[in-house]
Amino acid sequence: MSLKIYNVLSKKREEFVPREDGKVKMYACGITVSGDAHIGHAYQAIIFDTIKKYLEYSGYKVTYVRNYTDVDDKIIVKARSLGVNPLDYANKMIDKTDRELSLLGVDKPTICARATECIDDMIKFIQKLIDAGHAYSTDSGNVFFRVSSFPEYGKLSRIVASDNISSVRKEMEPDKIDDRDFALWKTAGADEIFWQSPWGVGRPGWHIECSTMSMKFLGETIDIHGGGRDLIFPHHENEIAQSESLTGKPFVLYWLHNGLIKINDQKMSKSLNNGILIEDMLRDYNYEVIRMTLLENSYRSDINIVDGIFEQNEEKVYMIYKLFDTIDKLGNGCIVNYDCDEYKDIDREFRSAMDNDFNTSVAISLLFGYISEMNILVRKKDIQRLVDIKYALVNIYKVLGLLQQDSRKVVEDIKAKYIDIYKIDVLEVDRLLKKRQSMREEKNYLEADKIRDILLDKGIVVKDIGGEVLWDIDISLINKNRL
Ligand SMILES: [Zn+2]
Repeated sequence: MSLKIYNVLSKKREEFVPREDGKVKMYACGITVSGDAHIGHAYQAIIFDTIKKYLEYSGYKVTYVRNYTDVDDKIIVKARSLGVNPLDYANKMIDKTDRELSLLGVDKPTICARATECIDDMIKFIQKLIDAGHAYSTDSGNVFFRVSSFPEYGKLSRIVASDNISSVRKEMEPDKIDDRDFALWKTAGADEIFWQSPWGVGRPGWHIECSTMSMKFLGETIDIHGGGRDLIFPHHENEIAQSESLTGKPFVLYWLHNGLIKINDQKMSKSLNNGILIEDMLRDYNYEVIRMTLLENSYRSDINIVDGIFEQNEEKVYMIYKLFDTIDKLGNGCIVNYDCDEYKDIDREFRSAMDNDFNTSVAISLLFGYISEMNILVRKKDIQRLVDIKYALVNIYKVLGLLQQDSRKVVEDIKAKYIDIYKIDVLEVDRLLKKRQSMREEKNYLEADKIRDILLDKGIVVKDIGGEVLWDIDISLINKNRL
């Protein structure tokens, strides 16, 4: 089987054939650093990180460019409200966002491009468009792209001229000729951030940034361009218009767009103030809990982040690592069969899920199938197979950024978190367990069971294993009691 990708340009699932054999050139629109990065940024970054990882797993050499928009009206407004220099503010936010993405298990792209480092290239790009008649400058020092000069405009979004949709309303930009025309260069006031250009001082429009950086680092035609679905129009439509007007060649072969995030059925928005910041998620949850939550649907669907969704996945992550911890103990001294049938089977099933337009949803449900099988093998004490399957899963699911941590540590961290949240008194638990033990020795099973039920009410499960009494937290029960 070969990789099939849903191409937003053709609205079809197509076989993936990169321009150059064995190599993939990929660009994903990055973050405008006008504030702290939120779950929507995390979603897009994790999706395209996973796609990159899977392409590499499939044997491609991937050159992946992601950009930061570090000059923009919103950044200027935000920096001004804080009384700081907008470029300093943008730099600080880029460093912070880089750190957060890395804590989410997102690989550094091959090239991390910054708009302000490519201003000269943008100016040259715009000048060529003017020379070819695809753009015009105005008396006020703005430059606009002439949409009527690109007959294919609308081919990505399927928005046509008669839809009468313009990227920025004409009242906001009174000097443009056609409603659909969009700014390539915006004149700037003396108190703003600006660069010198043939049209006077100003700064680039947002769309020209991505076209310029994509071409500068990857060439005129690239294989994959990605972003959130909200970027299709006008951003990506405008990127195509500028780029293809300049080169006369296809700009991108495969357009991929991820779905959007809803919070408790509502669109995430500034006015509702319902966004979830990456730093808050990382404070509350293991990063694999976050990745699992964002990858358990296929990337094109919207995700509804309802209350309790992270806890559900935290429980799953806890369960997996508890199992892995058990295997580590049981399999101590076992030698892995690197070339076993289990490995080949899991790899084949994983690839068939991911080759189907990167279907992480199916890949994750396959994972839980293997976990159930492994629980059966634990009961059968089939230790060699457990060791082999665990090795396969860890190696294959690194593509999704899952199963990559020390089992013991994850179990202890999550357990400690719940002990803390629910103020479980560990000494009191031990005291009750001792009392239960003496009841059992006196064959007073009724009283002993009562103690077990008292603990269960607090979300603590008691297990008698091989003469030893162990206790564990029951995340689902604890969360149910809380609701
Ligand atoms: Zn972009």
